[in-house]
Amino acid sequence: MANKPEKFIDENGLRLDGRAVDEMRPMTIEIGVLSRADGSCYLEWGKNKILAAVYGPRELHPRRMQKPDEAIVRYRYNMAAFSVEDRARPGPSRRSIEISKVSRDAFAPIIMTKYYPSAVIDVFAEVLQADAGTRTAAINAASIALADAGIPMKGLISACAVGKVDGQLVLDLSKDEDNYGNADLPIAMTQDGEISLLQMDGNLTKEEFKKALEMATEGCRQILEIQKEALKKKFESHEEVVKSLV
Ligand code: ADP
Repeated sequence: MANKPEKFIDENGLRLDGRAVDEMRPMTIEIGVLSRADGSCYLEWGKNKILAAVYGPRELHPRRMQKPDEAIVRYRYNMAAFSVEDRARPGPSRRSIEISKVSRDAFAPIIMTKYYPSAVIDVFAEVLQADAGTRTAAINAASIALADAGIPMKGLISACAVGKVDGQLVLDLSKDEDNYGNADLPIAMTQDGEISLLQMDGNLTKEEFKKALEMATEGCRQILEIQKEALKKKFESHEEVVKSLV
C-alpha cells in the first residue's frame, strides 16, 4: 500500500489525480462482449475494470428453490485473484458475500420479476482490476448487462460513492482516498432518484450527509447519461444492420 499522502486536496482545490472534488473518473462502457451470455457489459471506470454477464430468465433448478409467482434474482460479485496488488484469495469472502447481497437488493425496485414465475435471473460481476469503488462500478455494469439481456426493467440503476478526505466531501473516491479517507458512502439509485443501496464507512455530520447525498445524486445522474448513451449506440448500430438488410 502507498504511504499516506500529506494532503489530498491542493491549494487549487484539486485532488491528487487532478480531479475537482465533484469530478468522477472517466467511465467507458462496451455492451455485448460475451457471446454465450444473454447480456454482457465491460466497464472501465478510472483503473477499475469490470465484466458483467447476465443469464436468464431461465428455469430454476432445483425446483424447490423456485418462486411460483416471480423470478428470483441472483447476483455474484467476485474479485479476480489478480485484480488487486496482493493476490485476492479466490472464492467467496465475507466482503464479497455482503456486496453480492446488497447489490442484488439494489436492483429490486426495477427488475420486473413477476413476468417470469419459477425462473432465475443470474447476474455475475467480475472485478478484473480493482481501484476503489468496485461495488458501484459492478452495479453500473450489471445494470447495462441486464438491459442487454432484454430483462424487463422500470429503468436503469446507477451507482457511485462519495467520501471525505481532508475534511472535504469528494465524489468517486480514488484508491488512496478510500484507504486513508474519513468516510466512504456508496449509493445506488433508480432513474427516479429512489435510493436502492446506501452503505457507509466512517463518520459524517448530518449536514455533510445531506450534501453527500446531493453529490451522489448528481454523480448517478451523470452515470445514467453515460449508460443511456452506450445503450443508444448499441441500438443504433443494430439499426444500421437492419437498414442494410432491407
Ligand atoms: P469498493 O471496491 O466497493 O470501494 P471496499 O471499500 O471494500 O469496496 O474496497 C476498496 C478497495 O480496496 C477495492 O476497490 C480494492 O481496490 C481494495 N481491496 C478490496 N479487497 C481487497 C483485497 N482482498 N485485497 C486487496 N485489495 C482489496
